Amino acid sequence: MNGDAMDTFFKRIQSKTRLFNPLKDFSFDEIPFEIRYDPLTGETGRVFDTPYRPPDRPDIAEIIQRSREMFCPFCPDALETSTPLFPTELIPDGRIKQGDATLIPNLIPLIHMRGYLSYPENTILG
Ligand SMILES: [Zn+2]
Repeated sequence: MNGDAMDTFFKRIQSKTRLFNPLKDFSFDEIPFEIRYDPLTGETGRVFDTPYRPPDRPDIAEIIQRSREMFCPFCPDALETSTPLFPTELIPDGRIKQGDATLIPNLIPLIHMRGYLSYPENTILG
């Protein structure tokens, strides 16, 4: 795709919002933004600078360490004895295994049927 075709395919609108800005003693301000259109879904996204500084990232090393010391039913050594099995008419072996991943039913009855996908280092709600 050449540059013109790319611009047609990836449509965008660049503009500015105009206001009296309280962050600049209510002086008149123009803040640029861009609207981008997803050519496949028709969804739009906005691109702009935020006038607010993002919060500092908290130090979560202690929380991670405490988590590692707690019992986890999804860790490989506990998975087989601590997680439920699907009904045998649905999954004869009770769980679906593919490589290191294991699909197990969710013990929390949120809907009729829901599963967790468990990897050795991660657990993903499905
Ligand atoms: Zn775990």
